[in-house]
Order: sequence, then structure tokens, then C-alpha cells
Amino acid sequence: MKTKNKICKWYPVCPIKYFVDHGKLDRKWVENYCLIGNKDCIRYKLEESGEYHPDNMLPNGEIKEELYY
Ligand code: SF4
Repeated sequence: MKTKNKICKWYPVCPIKYFVDHGKLDRKWVENYCLIGNKDCIRYKLEESGEYHPDNMLPNGEIKEELYY
């Protein structure tokens, strides 16, 4: 898989960034997805296809019930 070393375009508005910035989620998520523009991110794919996805869905598609704003 080719990955461009570029921050994901959704990063500034993505709930995953918010959760990491507020210490609710491990930094590894932004390091392994957002900050390297990893297009395997399920959130990214759903965003691109305009499909609904909850704020507490992780980049791997897992839902974290305990995550909230
Ligand atoms: S979680 Fe996915 S959609 Fe959100 S900023 Fe990170 S890579 Fe982009």
C-alpha cells in the first residue's frame, strides 16, 4: 500500500483529533492514521463516500462506547 506522508485533510475537524487532544484516546491513533494520511482509515472512507459514521468510531471501524464530547 502506498501511503503519502501527509496529514489527513479531515484532521482539523475530526473527532479523533479532539479525543486525543483531550487525553481520551491514545496518541497512536493519530500517529498511525491522521498524521500520515493513512487512507485505510474507515472514518476517511466513510467520509469520502458521504456515509454516516458516529463520532466514537475509531479509524479501524471499532466503536468506543465510552468516547464522548
Ligand atoms: S481519524 Fe481518519 S478521517 Fe479522521 S483525521 Fe484521522 S485519518 Fe482522517
